[in-house]
Amino acid sequence: MTSNSNEIRNVVIVGSGPAGWTAAIYLSRANLSPVVYAGAQVGGQLTTTTEVENFPGFPEGRDGPELMADMEAQAKRYGTEIVYEEIESIDAKSSPFTLKAGGGAVIKAHTIIICTGASPKMLGLPGEKTFWSRGVHTCAVCDGGFYRGKTVAVVGGGDSATEEATYLAKLAQKVYLIHRREELRASKIMAERALKNSKIEPLWNTVVEDVGGDLSGKFPKTTHLKLKNLKDNSRNDLPVDAMFVAIGHTPNTKFLNGAFTADENGYLIVNDAQETNIEGVYAAGDVHDHVYRQAITAAGYGCKAALEVERYLTRKGLVG
Ligand code: NAP
Repeated sequence: MTSNSNEIRNVVIVGSGPAGWTAAIYLSRANLSPVVYAGAQVGGQLTTTTEVENFPGFPEGRDGPELMADMEAQAKRYGTEIVYEEIESIDAKSSPFTLKAGGGAVIKAHTIIICTGASPKMLGLPGEKTFWSRGVHTCAVCDGGFYRGKTVAVVGGGDSATEEATYLAKLAQKVYLIHRREELRASKIMAERALKNSKIEPLWNTVVEDVGGDLSGKFPKTTHLKLKNLKDNSRNDLPVDAMFVAIGHTPNTKFLNGAFTADENGYLIVNDAQETNIEGVYAAGDVHDHVYRQAITAAGYGCKAALEVERYLTRKGLVG
């Protein structure tokens, strides 16, 4: 389905993280011929992590990209059509809906599931790329386990940063909480929980100017952060084994041009049936969920959305 056609698809799934692939597995097994537009980052956020230790079914953990490749293969096995392009726009003013793909195709669909996820905000430092996944991370629940007994830093001052710091304090021997101001943005309860933890040391009025480390081995290894104190402009190197950036996420909804109801941070708002404000258009995963943000919850939402699409198509008499 890469060229324009008069065919109306039952369902187009936009995005290829755990939510998208799970929806595709359910819908293809239900003989509803889903098509997945896999986007620019096939497999989503999990392809940027190394070991996934908390996805049930893998007692020894699982390589993130491999886990996603298996989900893709499972969706393919049941007949999911996969197009390795982005969807650039959705016109949901009338049904059937119209989607435009990066390759120029125009697709008509009775239903859509938006599973485009969210992207962690980064500081924009050169070292973030060099040491990515080798001491630079964005998810403590995913990657904190690598730093048992080590020294780590969390950057940010919101609920995410305090939550990450508190989680990491259970594993690491020392956690620095690096914040650019001297007051946390986090809710009182989460701020207090972090600040009263004896393993967590806040570094106020401080920014990370870069990440430093050892590049001589097989893999890069983070060893320190280059810090600047904004009060007195002093600089120092802080020895750490890892930095967790927790300065917020951005839901990947820009291509929707505000056509769907979202909260003040851009996360899509869905009802209990995973449906957006437009009947027949669903969302699943981190594109609407800023609370749990786990691969397993995204997969669960993908499953829910798929079952709701099936019900919708049956209810409307669009499938036999
Ligand atoms: P957030 O509330 O927007 O906080 C982002 C933090 O990062 C702020 O402290 C901000 O500093 C800092 N920051 C932003 N850009 C920075 C930069 N370039 N350099 C250094 N620091 C930077 O984001 P969040 O903590 O991810 O929370 C997002 C939403 O999810 C919130 O509504 C939050 O309540 C919710 N959330 C809830 C839970 C929970 O309830 N369990 C957990 C996580 C998140 P400033 O303070 O100086 O602006």
